[in-house]
Amino acid sequence: MQGIPDTIKLFSFAKKGLNLSHTYHVKDFPRMKKLLSNIDDKVKVELSFYIENNSIPCIEGIIKLNAMVDCQRCLNEVNLHLSPSFKLGFLKNEQQGGTLDSSFETILNADEAFSTIEFITDEVLISIPMSPMHSHKCQSYQDKERIKQERHNPFAILKHMKTQYKK
Ligand SMILES: [Zn+2]
Repeated sequence: MQGIPDTIKLFSFAKKGLNLSHTYHVKDFPRMKKLLSNIDDKVKVELSFYIENNSIPCIEGIIKLNAMVDCQRCLNEVNLHLSPSFKLGFLKNEQQGGTLDSSFETILNADEAFSTIEFITDEVLISIPMSPMHSHKCQSYQDKERIKQERHNPFAILKHMKTQYKK
């Protein structure tokens, strides 16, 4: 197993049938770094390149990482175990897609070279749920706010007194 170059050269890698793997860190991915708080944690990536049906370059891979994000229910951190896997066929035109079996996800792409970091980032970001939450039933921050206000807001009493006074 060798490392993964910074730039993916699609046809060239696919023709060689390369199997590449590398362990990155969250902080190596600028867009991921903004969203995840565990920037020193590992991101394990395995990519296989090959040509399907004599013409279509494909990338099959798996990425493994833990992602610390804000839980959308309680606003505390939640640790998501992500392992997005993908099997992508890069097409020059849509007609080409008909020759691939349904296990492939197809992408219309004419670029021979693209950034490895950006490619991996895209695959990770689409695997993060829209509203990440704890698997246990954590307390909604909205409920917590309400209880806190009722208990500790001295102005609530003041307001109450004012309305009484007015009468
Ligand atoms: Zn939560």
